[in-house]
Amino acid sequence: MSNDKLPTRSENYSEWYNQLIQRAELADYAPVRGCMVVRPYGWALWENIQQALDGRFKATGHQNAAFPLLIPKSFLEKEKEHVEGFSPELAVVTIGGGEQLEEPLIVRPTSETIIGYMYSKWIKSYRDLPVLINQWGNVVRWEMRTRLFLRTLEFYWQEGHTAHATYEEAEEETLRMLNIYTDFAKNEAAVPVMPGRKSATEKFAGAVHSYSIEAMMGDTKALQAGTSHLLGQNFAKAFNIQYSDVNNELQYCYTTSWGVSTRFIGAIIMTHGDDQGLIMPPRLAPIQVVIVPIYKNDEERAKVMPMVESVRQQLSTLRIKVDDRTEVTPGFKFNDWELRGVPVRIEIGPKDVEKGSVMVSRRDIPGRDGKTILPQENLAAVISDLLKTIHNALLERATTFRDDHIFEPQDYDELKQVVENGWAYSWWCGDPACEAKVKEDTRATTRCIPFDQPEGHGHCIVCGKEAKEKVYFSKAY
Ligand SMILES: [Zn+2]
Repeated sequence: MSNDKLPTRSENYSEWYNQLIQRAELADYAPVRGCMVVRPYGWALWENIQQALDGRFKATGHQNAAFPLLIPKSFLEKEKEHVEGFSPELAVVTIGGGEQLEEPLIVRPTSETIIGYMYSKWIKSYRDLPVLINQWGNVVRWEMRTRLFLRTLEFYWQEGHTAHATYEEAEEETLRMLNIYTDFAKNEAAVPVMPGRKSATEKFAGAVHSYSIEAMMGDTKALQAGTSHLLGQNFAKAFNIQYSDVNNELQYCYTTSWGVSTRFIGAIIMTHGDDQGLIMPPRLAPIQVVIVPIYKNDEERAKVMPMVESVRQQLSTLRIKVDDRTEVTPGFKFNDWELRGVPVRIEIGPKDVEKGSVMVSRRDIPGRDGKTILPQENLAAVISDLLKTIHNALLERATTFRDDHIFEPQDYDELKQVVENGWAYSWWCGDPACEAKVKEDTRATTRCIPFDQPEGHGHCIVCGKEAKEKVYFSKAY
């Protein structure tokens, strides 16, 4: 680890982000431009994200399966919007085993097509519905401008794909999964998100409509942290996914797809991180508590280590790490774990042994204010409570920050100003031309049309025509 100070967020937010990921050993750059290597600390975070989501998927009746990485190129061409949306970013395999392939294969950018093809084989009758399958995997999109976790050539995710008998059931599923994402973001990651509908311009290529959860990052830009798409019968018609109904008549299914990716790690970093480094939300933190023994010599060490071991055992239901490195000083260790965002640090020195106490520091409150001396007894319950308190404090802080940076501009000039340092919450007539004008003038896009809408109607912030819905405009990752 380098000793140079991390750039502060106000000095250079983007450098802060890039350097932090590498110094905290979450990920590194791969030899192929735009690809990332997720390092063990980053992957442990991803595994905790996976676990939290997977439990929610299974509790709502979904099962996991695995579909292939390679898809016949012709599959992608079957759904018109889908092919237009994804063609520019496809990786195509033309040679296999030294031979030119008869039909090129694509490396999946998403799996609607191959799964749709399989569903057309598996679904025969209304009794087979709904089909509720999720896949954990990786996909490839040939992105030109890449950033670790936020936009990489290859990324990891889950993609849920479901098939239903009716539009209503499919719509219900789409919203159910968006609610699961909202709940996960808030209650596991302490990331407050705004759920809503995407505009026609911003929706998934091939969807009837898309929903997303949008989070505000520490620089006030938005990040789309999860999406859920109602695909209607578009893919069912392209892939002939049909079932015979109760009257033995053939009907097309209605399908959905929904996903959260390693991009969410970027959301965690930029929602909670400060100038000292990462702040891991306690429920997802790979290490929830780090214990740093403090001693000057072997005699003190012999006193301290048994207590370190006893505290470690008391806290064994938590994800805990004892930093017993001898080659670095306690001060170095403090900085290191601060950088890596471990929510709670426990120091144990010779005086603590005498008094039967420990020094506990909260990562979310740096310095003296976040420190308390606690008795060693009953530490397990106290630390578990403290982790909950930290979760709530992070969520509250992020929510306050977000709400302080959402503005309701009075006119278009004011909109142009506010999107420089926040989100604009404004009436919009729904015309893509107005959306395009905002994008051209400010680089801000429509993020989502939130479910929570005010009564009545107003005038489009861009053209002044009557508008029925309010939308968030913001710059975004
Ligand atoms: Zn308008």
